[in-house]
Amino acid sequence: MIKLNDVWKVYPNNVKALNGMTVQIEKGEFVYVVGPSGAGKSTFIRLIYREEKATKGDIFVNNINLSTLKHKEIPKLRRNIGVVFQDFKLLPSLTVHENIAFALEVIEEHPSDIKKRVNEVLNLVKLKSKAKFLPSELSGGEQQRVAIARAIANRPDVLIADEPTGNLDPETAWTIMDLLESIHSLGTTVIMATHNKEIVNTLKRRVIAIENGRIVRDEARGNYGYEV
Ligand code: ADP
Ligand code: ADP
Repeated sequence: MIKLNDVWKVYPNNVKALNGMTVQIEKGEFVYVVGPSGAGKSTFIRLIYREEKATKGDIFVNNINLSTLKHKEIPKLRRNIGVVFQDFKLLPSLTVHENIAFALEVIEEHPSDIKKRVNEVLNLVKLKSKAKFLPSELSGGEQQRVAIARAIANRPDVLIADEPTGNLDPETAWTIMDLLESIHSLGTTVIMATHNKEIVNTLKRRVIAIENGRIVRDEARGNYGYEV
């Protein structure tokens, strides 16, 4: 489903973020991406949803070749990928309901389907009672649940999360993991970059470790493997 073939990424400032990465992730997998700060984890993630383009090498997502993907075809790719960030990235002036509806409008979902989908995902993340709240009126954990609802509202095949628990206390982090696990069990491929050792070592999954832009470890039921 996701395939990188000898992928290199050099940023315009000449930083070499990925140095020949080859990896394959199958449909339905749950993958942690770990490694020190600056290793290339976020770059790897940004390449998959085409926020950045590879300098060299091929990337395939659902058989779409991102190297030759036209700019106008990016929305088509993103209809199949949901993304969640450490800092939630909700639109501050829109309510919870509007934040999710807006994401569906951007990808040109039919208006008649939008309301239904928003209500469905708000039920899933147990935030129906806060549909009319602004993000600033929610706790961090609730904001992340809204962000996850927004990311999955279109039923993407892949959910990518870049340090989704990074801004949350340990207890709240676990509620987010429960949610990601249930989304995974519904059939979604989940790729999660994380520094959370406890989560990785407890919820045993495939672990891909990146250092200096290269995969240094790839284990089916791996450990976090770093001290912090
Ligand atoms: P990680 O997510 O593992 O912390 P990143 O992918 O963010 O790693 O960064 C990998 C390297 O690329 C680092 O040296 C970082 O400073 C650099 N980098 C990341 N994003 C950019 C960018 N937009 N422009 C230039 N350099 C970047
Ligand atoms: P094409 O593949 O059709 O040539 P490109 O991906 O090269 O399209 O991008 C066309 C234009 O859109 C360029 O000016 C590029 O900087 C810009 N662009 C590319 N990717 C993005 C993105 N993710 N978000 C915003 N602008 C982008």
